[in-house]
Amino acid sequence: MKKVVGHPIVEQRFADALQRGNLHHAWLLHGIKGIGKHTLAENLAGRLLCDSHVACGSCHACQMLDAGSHPDVYRIALLEKKRDISIDQVRELLGFLALSGSESECRVVILDDAERLSNQAANALLKGLEEPAAGSLLLIVCADAEKLPATVRSRCLLQHCAPLEKSEVRTVLQSEFADTLGADEVLLDLAVGFADGCPGAVSCLHDRRIIDALQTWSKLVVDITEADIGKVEHWCRMNVATVPHGLIIRMLLQPLYPLLQSPRQEAFDATQLLHKAVHACMRWPGEVQRQSIRPAPSLLACLLELRGALRNPVIQR
Ligand SMILES: [Zn+2]
Repeated sequence: MKKVVGHPIVEQRFADALQRGNLHHAWLLHGIKGIGKHTLAENLAGRLLCDSHVACGSCHACQMLDAGSHPDVYRIALLEKKRDISIDQVRELLGFLALSGSESECRVVILDDAERLSNQAANALLKGLEEPAAGSLLLIVCADAEKLPATVRSRCLLQHCAPLEKSEVRTVLQSEFADTLGADEVLLDLAVGFADGCPGAVSCLHDRRIIDALQTWSKLVVDITEADIGKVEHWCRMNVATVPHGLIIRMLLQPLYPLLQSPRQEAFDATQLLHKAVHACMRWPGEVQRQSIRPAPSLLACLLELRGALRNPVIQR
């Protein structure tokens, strides 16, 4: 069973309720996308069904859960290419909850992407929440609880899931990206910073080509004053459509942090120019999105402005 990183309070509350024998029938796990709420839901289901109630990962029940074949667990989520979760999906879910368990005395439904329930589907769900079948547990995973009707929210036990700590993000990325990030500490640091508490935000790093492109970029811009502009221009054209823009800029600015953090009094004007160029770089991802400017030439323009500012002899001293 996948280990949950972060969210210890929710896990503890669930374990306590289970031990006291008064588990609420509907838990609503909400918080921004990409912080492991689904993994947490799977783990909570494991705690309920596991032979020793700890989601041990090795008993028969846990193994079936891991394989996605536990007969007392039903999962629903937004289907590919669908706009919302339909009323039919919710009816099936309610039908499942009304059955009696086959392996255990319980039935568990994990309802993912709940912010995408259609109005009809949410209303149907409400009925199930009002008359829960004995032994049923509904684990609702939702990125934005405000998008659910208040009537649904009020019948659930709300559990807010917060973004992860930096060290937790690092742990997740190290295990999930063992094959791509590998031992590249620079890239790992960069990814941890970019994720900003949300490992899901860097899921693009599963793509080896994006890692390779970022590594090439890092070598190209390690010293911007000496960068080969022909190669930089080529890189921009080839990669600007696939590599997340925030990561491109972070990698571009990373070598400059020491310089930016210790401004020198005598270089006031030059430092101002440098800061202006840095801010232009930081604004670039947003401007590409808002103003539909062509990303490759505008990135190159930012880099050239930065290079001009850095080449000032006062800065270089
Ligand atoms: Zn187990």
